[in-house]
Amino acid sequence: MKLESLLIHGAKDSLNQTGAISVPIYQSATFVHPGVGQSTGFDYARVQNPTRQALERLMASLEGGSEALAFSCGMAALDALLGLFNRGDHIICSNDLYGGSVRLFDAAGPRLGIEFDYIDVNDQKLLERTLSDKTAMVFIETPSNPMMTVTDIRAVRKTIGPRIMLTVDNTFLTPICQRPLELGADLVVHSGTKFLGGHNDTLCGFIILSDCFKAEKLRYITKTVGSGLTPFDSFLIIRGLKTLKLRIEKSQANALAVAEFLTRHHRVNKVYYPGLLDHPGREISLSQSTGFGAMLSFEVESEELAKAVLERVSMILYAESLGGVETLITYPILQTHADLPERVREALGINSRLLRLSAGVEASEDIIEDLSQALS
Ligand SMILES: *Cc1c(COP(=O)(O)O)cnc(C)c1O
Repeated sequence: MKLESLLIHGAKDSLNQTGAISVPIYQSATFVHPGVGQSTGFDYARVQNPTRQALERLMASLEGGSEALAFSCGMAALDALLGLFNRGDHIICSNDLYGGSVRLFDAAGPRLGIEFDYIDVNDQKLLERTLSDKTAMVFIETPSNPMMTVTDIRAVRKTIGPRIMLTVDNTFLTPICQRPLELGADLVVHSGTKFLGGHNDTLCGFIILSDCFKAEKLRYITKTVGSGLTPFDSFLIIRGLKTLKLRIEKSQANALAVAEFLTRHHRVNKVYYPGLLDHPGREISLSQSTGFGAMLSFEVESEELAKAVLERVSMILYAESLGGVETLITYPILQTHADLPERVREALGINSRLLRLSAGVEASEDIIEDLSQALS
């Protein structure tokens, strides 16, 4: 099946005999054993639950992996990921990662004895120089957040060779636009809270991988600490996924229309959207993705104007997060990227004039109209 059909028909309930079209919410903490030493495949919901399993199997097929694990949120997935590493390991990250990921790595690195380096992974020479025999993983987001820097996944794989694990946070593009495992990544992580769920009503996270051995290690972690997604949230994500392609197409078209409007606006200095003709990552995007996504950032002429826009928008909501049906605007310097050191923020271009927009599925005219009045 094509991805868009899989979204509709891919979540299967392995147990249901009733003919129910939706995967039921198996709201059960424990499961009866059919006999001594026997199991239906489900014993206790911290370990596995049928609703979560249906979602995990669907996500594995969407990303082209052999296994997927669903977590209570994206950060829980990233925390579990760290469990794959040992004291002394070295991890290289792209330098404008999601702020929460940087916070987690900063907190966990010293405690676990894992060393992190943040670099421009597109700089092949720099990447080569940063690699050492301790390097166990390269972790990238593409396009990045909020600067929309595009990283060439195939090129990174080529530079780091086959031994080092390559992980891609695919939250921004989803498997509808980009399938990192096919481009050389070993692992894909997601904040399913964003486009996959799509309705700003629940948190969720994923790890998808082709390696069964690592999957087993990750399952051991979720079984031990209980960070797996609840049955009800699994149901909501399965439901959200059904319209993923439709939503992405509409929000993406809206993002392009907004980016073009902002480019022409005299109070906007810069627009960062990979779909614009002059975006430096456009060619790489076209070579590895089938869409540019629905996220864009823009720099207005002054800090006062940036703050005024946040207060004046009316249909557009000033709120953290992204990827839902509602258009959201955020102020990275105070919200998502507040935890980045100022030196790093400035170097990346995350300043007090920068706003980030997640295009929703409203009429593009209404989004543009709202931005237009806010910018005036
Ligand atoms: C939101 C986000 C996360 C964290 O996910 P939560 O579901 O909020 O825990 C990680 N990476 C990216 C790119 C995100 O946007």
